[in-house]
Amino acid sequence: MDKIFIFDTTLRDGEQSPGASMAVEQKVEVARLLAGMGVDIIEAGFPISSQLQFEGVKRVAENVEGPTIAGLARAVEKDITTCYEAVKPAEKKRIHTFIATSGIHMKHKLNKSSDEVLKLATDAVTLAKSMVEDVEFSAEDASRSEWEFLKDIYTAVIEAGANTINVPDTVGYTVPDEFSELIQFLLNNVPGIDNVVISVHCHNDLGLAVANTIQAIKAGARQAEVAVNGLGERAGNASFEEVVMAIKTKGSYFNLKTGIVTENIYQLSKTVVSFTGIPVQPNKAIVGENAFAHEAGIHQDGMIKNRMTYEIMTPQSIGRSKSTLVLGRHSGKHGLKTRLKELGYTLKDNEFKKIFDKFLELADKKKEVFDEDLHVLIEDELNILPEIFSLVYFSVVTGNKVIPTATVKLKKNSTMLQEAATGDGPVDAVYRAIEKITDTSVKLVSYSLNAVTHGKDAMGTVTISVERKNKQYRGYGVATDIIEASAHAFLNAINRILFNKL
Ligand SMILES: [Zn+2]
Repeated sequence: MDKIFIFDTTLRDGEQSPGASMAVEQKVEVARLLAGMGVDIIEAGFPISSQLQFEGVKRVAENVEGPTIAGLARAVEKDITTCYEAVKPAEKKRIHTFIATSGIHMKHKLNKSSDEVLKLATDAVTLAKSMVEDVEFSAEDASRSEWEFLKDIYTAVIEAGANTINVPDTVGYTVPDEFSELIQFLLNNVPGIDNVVISVHCHNDLGLAVANTIQAIKAGARQAEVAVNGLGERAGNASFEEVVMAIKTKGSYFNLKTGIVTENIYQLSKTVVSFTGIPVQPNKAIVGENAFAHEAGIHQDGMIKNRMTYEIMTPQSIGRSKSTLVLGRHSGKHGLKTRLKELGYTLKDNEFKKIFDKFLELADKKKEVFDEDLHVLIEDELNILPEIFSLVYFSVVTGNKVIPTATVKLKKNSTMLQEAATGDGPVDAVYRAIEKITDTSVKLVSYSLNAVTHGKDAMGTVTISVERKNKQYRGYGVATDIIEASAHAFLNAINRILFNKL
């Protein structure tokens, strides 16, 4: 079986989704998870674009072992040298340089002729190759470029030393057959292409990103650029979990495999949801809440007789066990540690201590602690965005004949701050009080509440999106009390705003 290289761009293209920015610590955590799952290449960011991006790539390069660490760079000297500085600490490092090759981009965006673009691309690859062994070149908007020009530019960059040539469907415009023909055309016409890896990077504007990726692989591409939960610019990138599970589930049909430990997919997806605050739709393939739920009676009947009647893969294959009772108050440290290990979490001592305290707190509130609860606890704890303000106390008076009123106490460093406010409802009142204390007013754009497990005492997760000065920020909170979860989500968003100002 041929191996497909998985190139994860959650930290670069995925993070370019509106409101998806992650703190540096969170990026390192996601990169560690990806490394543990056997991802081949991690694109950790776009170093020239900001100091935070540079820092993110550098920290991943310093701290994450196993995969190749890549950074993105335009075909410009300063981009490439900055990218090199950022990826330098990694044992295996890659510079990924790109330039647009479609008529519309060259004319209107770059204002350059195709000859000039070809020279810039070749110079960029030559420069990158003088710094690192491993160079990837992307012809941005390849799917809308002249095929003859693509042939020329890929030929030139391969001669200049590119090891991987990426064929991006930057605007999500291609369809499976057309894209596969392009890959075959390149395979048949670009000299030296047999010695490099062909990569594809598909966007989902027409909902075809995964289909286009798979078809390109069938035609001979050997690297798939993907993002967890399908995050990415606009409608997003080809989804990591869908591409990987399609190859696994249809492995014998394709005669292909990836090196991914699929049993950690669910945990990875959940972590990215909590770090970015962007939830996945319930009917999302592989990781959606309903992806393995069988509602119709006739389906349930079939499932009981044989799971294969309606299930092409098992929930266990992506690390989703059925909600099973795991632990209670008496399980103790050892019980918790063992279960966390089984779920794929290895925590440092200080992290474990915090989780254990929170676990005891939770076990007091609800008698049965499920795997899902543990996932949420960990993600909440590892949500390492610095807590500029943290919640100490809140109280709400509400009812159908009174004006909802909230009193909130927050801590900033060692100072306690308290305010009261009224609102349209209890959550609104809490939010008004938090706005007063933090002196940060925002517009609430969306609010969603979900139960993690079943039952009256289930934990609730709240995901919100707020707007301030035309920028959107996400917030995520979890608690057994929905108003408390709402307060945590709001504070998370406010902290994100304040953190971005630092
Ligand atoms: Zn992209």
